[in-house]
Amino acid sequence: MSVCYLRIALDTPLDAVFDYRWQGERPAVGQLALVPFGTREVVGLILAVAESSAVAPDKLKDALAVRSQLAPLSDEWLALVGFAADYYQRPLGEVALPGLPRNLRLASTVALDRGLKKLAAAAVAQDPRPAAMPQLNPAQQEAADAIGQASGFSPMLLFGVTGSGKTEVYLQACAQLLAREPDAQILILVPEINLTPQLEGNIRTRFPGLQLATLHSSLAEGERLRNWLAVHSGAARIVLGTRLAVLASLPRLRLIVIDEEHDPSYKQQEGLRYSARDLAVWRARQLGIPIVLGSATPALESWQHAHAGRYRKLVLRERAVKDAVLPKVKLIDMERERPRDGLTAPLLEAIRARLARGEQSLLFLNRRGYAPVICCESCGWISNCSRCTAYMVLHKSEHRLRCHHCSLEMRIPRHCPTCGNVDLQPLGRGTQRVEEHLAALFPQARILRIDADSTRRKGSAQAAFDSVHRGEVDILIGTQMVAKGHDFKNLTLVGILNPDTALFSQDYRASERLFAQLMQVAGRAGRAGGDVPAEVLIQTRYVQHPLYAAVLRHDYERFAAVILTERRQAGLPPFIYQALLRAEARAVEDAIAFLEAARDGMEHAGITINDPIPMTMTRVANVERAQLLVESASRPQLQAWLKAWVAYLRSLKTRVKWSLEVDPIDI
Ligand code: ADP
Ligand code: ZN
Ligand code: ZN
Repeated sequence: MSVCYLRIALDTPLDAVFDYRWQGERPAVGQLALVPFGTREVVGLILAVAESSAVAPDKLKDALAVRSQLAPLSDEWLALVGFAADYYQRPLGEVALPGLPRNLRLASTVALDRGLKKLAAAAVAQDPRPAAMPQLNPAQQEAADAIGQASGFSPMLLFGVTGSGKTEVYLQACAQLLAREPDAQILILVPEINLTPQLEGNIRTRFPGLQLATLHSSLAEGERLRNWLAVHSGAARIVLGTRLAVLASLPRLRLIVIDEEHDPSYKQQEGLRYSARDLAVWRARQLGIPIVLGSATPALESWQHAHAGRYRKLVLRERAVKDAVLPKVKLIDMERERPRDGLTAPLLEAIRARLARGEQSLLFLNRRGYAPVICCESCGWISNCSRCTAYMVLHKSEHRLRCHHCSLEMRIPRHCPTCGNVDLQPLGRGTQRVEEHLAALFPQARILRIDADSTRRKGSAQAAFDSVHRGEVDILIGTQMVAKGHDFKNLTLVGILNPDTALFSQDYRASERLFAQLMQVAGRAGRAGGDVPAEVLIQTRYVQHPLYAAVLRHDYERFAAVILTERRQAGLPPFIYQALLRAEARAVEDAIAFLEAARDGMEHAGITINDPIPMTMTRVANVERAQLLVESASRPQLQAWLKAWVAYLRSLKTRVKWSLEVDPIDI
């Protein structure tokens, strides 16, 4: 038993790496160790093992245990979390450790040992050979071959219209790779948990002998640990997950697939605000492996990479199912067709026709609740949230008002709090209200609403989608939850209510997002072919708007060209790089004052610093929020400057809570 010294990263808010003494078998870099920290015992990550330490012997504490039953995390993984910490300006421990299953970070090893035992028991002979696969069309085949045969770092953009059979391309590319390298691991990322079951089913039937693991945030802790261990050991060969899976330990990773790569959910919006897509590309480059980004409406960043020749573009222009064509998109001019209860006559007519033919309709409205606000018509009172710059949303069936930002809830007032008027009116409409109207209009129809409220219970979203797939639903109403990915076979009408608000947002990305969303939700219609072409009806007051013109023609490429030209002229991403400093305080003046100090405290040659401004939604849960945007035409220059800036910001020792976001997508 000899003594050595361990450099260990802990999950602490400061960039802290600590030395500990260890007596025992010499551990490896990348192993986990239990150490005392303050009054607690915590698990940290071993970054180095040395013969000596610069820390005075009487200051050194002893590490308590090394998790030697667990194979070390690889150099590749350490490099990945190191890069993420560096790039997003966060402490290494805060990036590396929270990404690990919680059960791995407990002082007790009971859960870990149980997980490892289960893993050993589950190890079965694997047969990576796929079951029979459908015949690909020529464009699919070309794409599948390009991906399946790629070697070295090869980033590819699979640009395929909705229903073009991108999934089939991924699966056949996986089959080609696994035929060549039976041990390989493949990481497939999807934007939403509720898309994993459908894809999981597809993968299991195609690769019946192959171990598949899912990684997403709604797994129970025990399952999360078991799946993580299966991936870390290399036993799980296909790993299907949401954004957090990009940080998994994958010792034999040979291919990465990102489906719906444009989706905003690939961006983590709190804590370590990383882009899973960007990290995945970095990981592929570092490993020298292919990566494919798939979408019908690629992120403009990815599209620009493809145009600059950095990504290879693979194109699927047609729908895969025989006779299936893209749906016919039409605008309903709400200035001419006055809606009743938010629904115009042509839309109702179209729904009626679907009901008569036994086909399904989908109504898309990206606003949950009954009505976004209630008001008093006699004095003008409206249901503001007392803690946020936001309205309290009416949830009628529960008789409650609820703030979607701070979760404040209250009973619906019986009378106006200001003037006593008893006749309070809902203003505008959310999915619940549309559901109520439709039920009154079509009493015979089977109507189902899918949104965050209707799917709170675990498993209920899955059950709801299953019943749509089984044909037990005539009219589906939903938010963006229903817009993406799902392959509804009997759906021939999509109605889009109220998309106009996003046209005039001050966020320059709003139009890109709206376009993608409309194309996605439109893409749910007509996927199985049929005699009568499917329809998409958009209710709008702006029938002349160029964005809708592009949607009518399903013309992503034109749209992207126009927006990219605008962005280039305006000096916006992807042509420049940004970071956003956010500050939170009880008083907005304090937040602004901090940001001013941050702005004025450092030289900034080559960096543009804008003025601090209150955020659009200034107050959330009684906290005032402001932000400061910095920009540069050079990413390395911005990176170097941010590093120095963060050090400076820490030295300010302010009471204001601040955070820095690199490559923000919500400004
Ligand atoms: P995307 O992800 O591009 O929107 P999907 O992968 O969901 O499209 O495929 C759309 C539909 O086309 C699915 O029902 C799928 O089974 C079917 N499909 C895919 N490829 C083929 C093919 N080569 N021949 C027939 N049907 C196909
Ligand atoms: Zn009133
Ligand atoms: Zn609130």
